[in-house]
Amino acid sequence: MRVVLLGPPGAGKGTQAKELVARYEIAQLSTGDMLRAAVAAGTPIGLKAKDIMARGELVPDDVVVAIVGDRIEQPDARRGFILDGFPRTVPQAEALDAMLDEIGKPLDVVLLLQVSDEVSLERLLGRRAAEGRSDDAPEAIENRLRLYHELTEPVVERYRANGTLVGVDGEQPVEDVAREIEDALAQVGAPQA
Ligand code: ADP
Repeated sequence: MRVVLLGPPGAGKGTQAKELVARYEIAQLSTGDMLRAAVAAGTPIGLKAKDIMARGELVPDDVVVAIVGDRIEQPDARRGFILDGFPRTVPQAEALDAMLDEIGKPLDVVLLLQVSDEVSLERLLGRRAAEGRSDDAPEAIENRLRLYHELTEPVVERYRANGTLVGVDGEQPVEDVAREIEDALAQVGAPQA
C-alpha cells in the first residue's frame, strides 16, 4: 500500500503515520524527520537545511526529491510506504509521479488531514512548550501556514482532480482520526497486516 498524508503543520500527520506503520507494516517516509536527522548529524544536507527549517521555510525541491528518491528504493519501502510531509509543492508532486511511474507502482490513496489555521496554531504552540522545536516559534509557524496555503494547497487540488484524495477531519481525537483513516483505507482495498 502506498499512501500520501497531506495536511497543514500540526494536523497530526506524524502521529497518524506512526499508527499506520504499525497496522500495515509499511515504511514511514517523513521528510521532516529525515531532514531533522540530517541537521542533528551535521551532514551537508543538514547544514543546508538547518536555518531554512528554523525559519519555517521550505528546503529546496531538488534536495527533498533526492532524499525521497533514495529512501523509496530501500528494501523496507518495497511492501509499501506512507509519505508524510511530501510532496509539499507541485514540482515535488510531479517528481513523485515520475518516480512511481518508473517503478510501475501508483499511489493507492492521498489522505488529507483537515485542520483549521486556529487549531494548527494552537497545537504547534503547545508542542513548542512541550518539545521546544525551533520551527514552532510564532514567526516560523506563520511562515509554515502561509507556505502551506500558497504551495501545498495546489498539490491537494491536484490529487482531488485525479480522484485519489480522501479528506479526514483532523480536529477529532487521535483515535477517531485513526478510525476514519482505517475506513478510508478499507474502501480502497488496503490489506491489513
Ligand atoms: P510540519 O508538518 O509540522 O510542518 P515537518 O516535520 O513535516 O513539520 O517539516 C518540518 C520542516 O522541514 C518544514 O517546515 C520544512 O522546512 C522542512 N520540510 C519537510 N518536508 C519538506 C518538503 N517536502 N519540502 C521542503 N521542505 C520540507
